[in-house]
Amino acid sequence: MTSLAPTPKIPKKSGSEKGKKTDKESVLCDLICPECGKETDILVKNICRDCFSQKFNLFELPLVLHARVCPQCGAHYHKSKWNDFENIEEIVMLAAQENMLVQSGLQNVSVGMHPHPRSPYIYDVLVDMEAEVEGVKLYKDAKTEVRIKREACDMCSRRAGGYFEAIIQIRAGNRMPTKEEVNQSLHLINETMIHMLKKGDKLAFVTDSMTFKDGADIFIGSTNAGRHVCKRIIEVMGGSVSESYTLAGVKDGKEIFRTTFAMRLPEFKKGDVIFVDGKVVEVRNCAKRLTGVCLSDSSSYFTDSENLKDAKHLGNVADAQNAVLVDVEENAILILDPVTYETVTIKKPISFNSVPGSEIKVFRTEYGIFAL
Ligand SMILES: [Zn+2]
Ligand SMILES: [Zn+2]
Repeated sequence: MTSLAPTPKIPKKSGSEKGKKTDKESVLCDLICPECGKETDILVKNICRDCFSQKFNLFELPLVLHARVCPQCGAHYHKSKWNDFENIEEIVMLAAQENMLVQSGLQNVSVGMHPHPRSPYIYDVLVDMEAEVEGVKLYKDAKTEVRIKREACDMCSRRAGGYFEAIIQIRAGNRMPTKEEVNQSLHLINETMIHMLKKGDKLAFVTDSMTFKDGADIFIGSTNAGRHVCKRIIEVMGGSVSESYTLAGVKDGKEIFRTTFAMRLPEFKKGDVIFVDGKVVEVRNCAKRLTGVCLSDSSSYFTDSENLKDAKHLGNVADAQNAVLVDVEENAILILDPVTYETVTIKKPISFNSVPGSEIKVFRTEYGIFAL
């Protein structure tokens, strides 16, 4: 194979030292550019280097380009779909790059892109290119203006339009959930939504929420995120959930269902005093398992929450009463019953160090009085 690259003419050997330079010049410059008429040592595509680099266009770039970006989440519309948040400078550079028409047959190409914001929504992008064609180094720079159109992406418009796939109903078993429990659930929901959104569930948002005296209803964009939320609430607060489906309509011949997650927070909460297994127990924690302390002998108590069907709620330590401590014996203490004012002997709790005459907290139940 022979190289198609132009070969410089080699001057003929001359015997005269004196006339060598003139000889060489005359040989090298015996070509005339048909374009500009100048003498040249080399022709590239039949014209001189200067004419060639003027004529050869490395690339074309439109003067104005457009990019669509969601002002809510920063998603970028590209190749007929909304893509996750990208750096705005990357978006404008991508627009310039994709709209550049580059000549074929270039070698050793290097391209530089320099975005400059003119306003938050208009960027100038300077593009420069260096490349070699037919052994001639060429350079070009050009500028384009990328205008950013702010447009709500599919997900953000759904969100704004009140879209929801699931409802989470926060309730409690055989009682009203407390304000703290409702707030804690809402907090866990928001936390999980942020987590799911980061993991790519773009419908992981709360569309609406309503609280009432027996709980709260939370409307969630994604069923999957709703399911995760319930798992998280059960993990932290205990309770159970059941799912049901309602037909919400038909879209493109497919039935659309909405999921209702009926969350039941555990019947008993920290501080509740319950009667279970023949024992009076102060609840310390109640999630999948209930843990607590037997008030009669300060021993630990635990059971699976499903064993609590027959447990009886006696009250909460917040309702404890003050009683005067009359005497302290080895295993018992004497107190004045705050209701009957009779002296009663009750079991001494472990690590009890109050002195007679002081007031202590007691909890009255139908199963007796207990010192807390
Ligand atoms: Zn020329
Ligand atoms: Zn968006």
